[in-house]
Amino acid sequence: MTAGSPVEADVRPDIPPVEVDNVSVRFGAIKALSGVSFTVQPGTIHAVIGPNGAGKSTMFNVLSGVYKAAEGQVRFGDHRLDQMRPYKIAGIGVARAFQNIALSAGQTVAENLMLGRHHLTKAGFLAAGLRLPRATREGKVHGARVAEIAEFLELGNKLHTPVGVLSYGDQKRVEVARALCTEPRLLLLDEPVAGMNAEETHRMAEAILEIRSALGISVVLVEHDMGMVMSLADRVTVLDFGRRIADGTPAEVQADPEVIRAYLGSGDEIDPAAAAAHSSDTPGTHS
Ligand code: ADP
Ligand code: MG
Repeated sequence: MTAGSPVEADVRPDIPPVEVDNVSVRFGAIKALSGVSFTVQPGTIHAVIGPNGAGKSTMFNVLSGVYKAAEGQVRFGDHRLDQMRPYKIAGIGVARAFQNIALSAGQTVAENLMLGRHHLTKAGFLAAGLRLPRATREGKVHGARVAEIAEFLELGNKLHTPVGVLSYGDQKRVEVARALCTEPRLLLLDEPVAGMNAEETHRMAEAILEIRSALGISVVLVEHDMGMVMSLADRVTVLDFGRRIADGTPAEVQADPEVIRAYLGSGDEIDPAAAAAHSSDTPGTHS
């Protein structure tokens, strides 16, 4: 695992940066985000971290069009994500995997993944329902791609298993696979390892690195656990109480006194020894 250095040649050419520019979100009197800015470079894994209540999920929902920003802009190439509805954002290649699993438990892995491809099928729902020739042909092509993506996430032998009987770790990977089935240019992951054991967490981290290297797409990872993103992210934006308190490489933010204070104050886990070791040789990047 080598974080921090995506091979330029592997980045897909049709992937623009994501520019979050001075975004604020309010819920009544609560300011969930206050003037937050960061840039996700094409083909990188960009983590947004922070203690509980920092505004991570709010940011995730702004990126996917679920919440409206009161101020600021979110640009993805020529598109203004902050002015688009969720289905339009999905239509330009932004896919999201949910924090709480949003799969159809009674349906098989293959059926759930096929749902991710509906907007790509020309024949549409009606023709597919009637099994018209065009739908059958298309079905084969999509079925092959679904199998490929399942294989990629080590779900190849579970294609015909109902999602509801899979382990928690497998279900979370189905959720990611379904997002990949939309052929995204930008993948948004909200706490992909929440509730996972150490082995499941490791497998998910490997899968996320694979997604970047094999597909060359950008990944925005919203994550509570600081340790998780350190070996994974190319760049990290840290939020606390809706404000950006740091932005830099994993080593830089981990050594940042304000980040350490925010995590210690929250009672969340951080490894003070590791942070102290970094702080002696790596200056933080405050802003
Ligand atoms: P995180 O994901 O980092 O734990 P959130 O983005 O969920 O944080 O929440 C940030 C702040 O905004 C919190 O104070 C939370 O209570 C508030 N908040 C989030 N969503 C809503 C909502 N839909 N309505 C009202 N307040 C909200
Ligand atoms: Mg959250």
